[in-house]
Amino acid sequence: MGLQEYFAQLGRGVDLVAECSGLSAPDLEKMGASAQDAAELISLHAIYFGTTPYTGKQRLAVDAARRSKHTLTTLRRIESFTRRITGKLDAWNLRVELCTTPPEQVAAVARRRLREMRAPRKYCERAMLRQHPNGLATLTVTANGLDMADAFRTIDQQRPGESFIARMLGKAGPAARTRVTTMAVLRLEDYGTILRGEGEDVMVRTTSGAVVTGAQLVERACADEGLVTIISRAQGPVDLYRFERFASLKQRTMLAAEHPTCAWPGCNTPAERGQFHHLTPWKHGGQTNVANLVTLCNYHNGVNDDDPNAPPRRGRLAREGGTIVWQPPAH
Ligand SMILES: [Zn+2]
Repeated sequence: MGLQEYFAQLGRGVDLVAECSGLSAPDLEKMGASAQDAAELISLHAIYFGTTPYTGKQRLAVDAARRSKHTLTTLRRIESFTRRITGKLDAWNLRVELCTTPPEQVAAVARRRLREMRAPRKYCERAMLRQHPNGLATLTVTANGLDMADAFRTIDQQRPGESFIARMLGKAGPAARTRVTTMAVLRLEDYGTILRGEGEDVMVRTTSGAVVTGAQLVERACADEGLVTIISRAQGPVDLYRFERFASLKQRTMLAAEHPTCAWPGCNTPAERGQFHHLTPWKHGGQTNVANLVTLCNYHNGVNDDDPNAPPRRGRLAREGGTIVWQPPAH
């Protein structure tokens, strides 16, 4: 067989599989196939042409594999991914998608889908140490989110290793208590729930990025050193309760309360690592008051379309009523 003919055959993998109809692995071996090739062809035949409750998906997969000119190698590759899925329907959906996918992208698409299907990771307390060949080591500790946020703040980012070790091993003397306050943000209805002592199910995000239950929040007596801000859905941040006068912080505090994380849809960067953005830009007459400000991370502060007259790129944030909304670029 010439190379040209060989390549032409390669591109019709699913048709070669179809030709195994009525044949067994020993039949194929008699025709000259290796035992492994014979077994693989028979199993591919069972998948693409055998009996299945998912005949519609099966037909789609065969047509798509033919159109994509998937080779036997690609079909085998696809099975190496669908095999990892327990649900038969999920496996068929992935198979159909991969049959539609150009051969060179099959692996990337499959890995992405498998990652999406994986159950979200469950975290629990633990500590791990990895030693590196250059004399450094990495310590990974999972613990209470609020405590860890506090601990993280004590690390000097200019010399993280040195400052962490000094604190851990007591070389730095007693740890100076950080003055930063973490704030928890409650919706009014949740506040009521927590006050009734039923806060076990209420998850509260804090400006350090830590998420705690309402019950934990009460336990931690957040009110002693932190703040509780109540957000009205109609007005935005309306009132601020704290136990220490610090007026210059008030606006930033209220804004962080309204958005403990970056206000851009889908972004979770904590307010403490972000900045405050003027909705109507300062240079266009926008004022520095709470109604004209919003929490944004550095990245989204950069991509927000500040100038309404400039060509639109990524859209912009605006306040409608009491709520911050994202306006698409065409707006
Ligand atoms: Zn962001």
